[in-house]
Amino acid sequence: MIPALIILNAGSSSLKFQVFEIVDDAEPRLVWKGLYEGLGGAAHFIVRHAGGADLDEMSWASADVFGHEEALMHLVSWLRGHQDGRKLAAIGHRVVHGGEAFPGPELVDESVLRSLETLVPLAPLHQPHNLKPIQIMRRRLPELPQVACFDTAFHQSQSDIASLFALPQEIRERGVRRYGFHGLSYDYIASVLKDYDPHLAEGRVIVAHLGNGASLCALRGGTSIATTMGFSALDGLPMGTRCGAVDAGVVFYMLREMKLTPEAAERMLYTKSGLLGVSGLSNDMRVLRERATTNPDAKRAIDLFVYRITREIGSLVAALGGIDGLIFTAGIGENDVATRAEVTNSLGWLGLVLDEAANRTGGPRISSGQGPTAWVIPTNEELVIARQTRSLLGATQASLAS
Ligand code: AMP
Repeated sequence: MIPALIILNAGSSSLKFQVFEIVDDAEPRLVWKGLYEGLGGAAHFIVRHAGGADLDEMSWASADVFGHEEALMHLVSWLRGHQDGRKLAAIGHRVVHGGEAFPGPELVDESVLRSLETLVPLAPLHQPHNLKPIQIMRRRLPELPQVACFDTAFHQSQSDIASLFALPQEIRERGVRRYGFHGLSYDYIASVLKDYDPHLAEGRVIVAHLGNGASLCALRGGTSIATTMGFSALDGLPMGTRCGAVDAGVVFYMLREMKLTPEAAERMLYTKSGLLGVSGLSNDMRVLRERATTNPDAKRAIDLFVYRITREIGSLVAALGGIDGLIFTAGIGENDVATRAEVTNSLGWLGLVLDEAANRTGGPRISSGQGPTAWVIPTNEELVIARQTRSLLGATQASLAS
């Protein structure tokens, strides 16, 4: 039997999954990828072959009460029906926050799960949804190993100073520090950089993960030395619906003068701000680009996004002591030609020169000249989770299959 891994990325009403085969010591091989959406309401399931061709699809009416638990059981039984010599060996989960306790992937038991639940207030938009399938599968298939892979772990390499807030000891001792996120994505980029440019992989690189969540990471020799996100996934760049860095005084104003409850203030900063809040229109970059010529607020949201990215890149260049390369990744970074052009052009002072034709076709190299280089590299967080799950459970096919 060939061991197979399910890799899960769970949201509030969605469950993204990928299925990998583990054959000997080779890189985990993607077999299928799919999605449940509309969970808790009118749910829909779609699964595709690794190459992208549709394989199967199913829908449920709202009255069917098809939630995360039903989706997970459906997935397990769908896999059994498509086994074809494979045996489900483990599930690898994307978990946004590993806190101080988990500097790397972790096999989940009851005490690990309890510890991860204490981190919910640090990532209220993601952590509870990430943990839900773990809780369900521990109940429904307790023998199946489950591995939690963290977005914070990659940044454990940062220095004490880089992760410190200038706050009194009594609050720092509670674990209030900069953690950083999107680590699974940065881990992937760091792992493939040598295939694009071996010299750059050893150098000073800034990775711009620009998706619905957005952050920047400074890599030196493939190791994270600084990042724009901090204690929570709210800090740094403006995002689809999150504000990014705001003066902490704004929060006091919201609570004291606007009389918002902490919950309402949190909701505003996490779900009503960012591109959506500034444009008053959408959190989707495609919509904003389409409307930017006729709607000044859509243009303003994009301009702010680009401005903040370039300012924060300046800060990370200072942390690195220079820059050898800039990488764009995630939904906007991989697809939005205009954002890449605007950011790269505003960094001419660093010697970056945009190759417009290469940028239009997606590179991968999108710069010309002798200065720092700019690249588009598609991220693959699921592959990193599969790699980490496999290596935690034992690198060989025999140990996974047992
Ligand atoms: P992600 O969270 O990585 O899936 O990225 C989501 C973001 O990527 C959204 O703002 C999308 O509008 C944006 N995006 C996806 N495809 C494109 C595209 N073809 N052009 C511009 N933006 C895109």
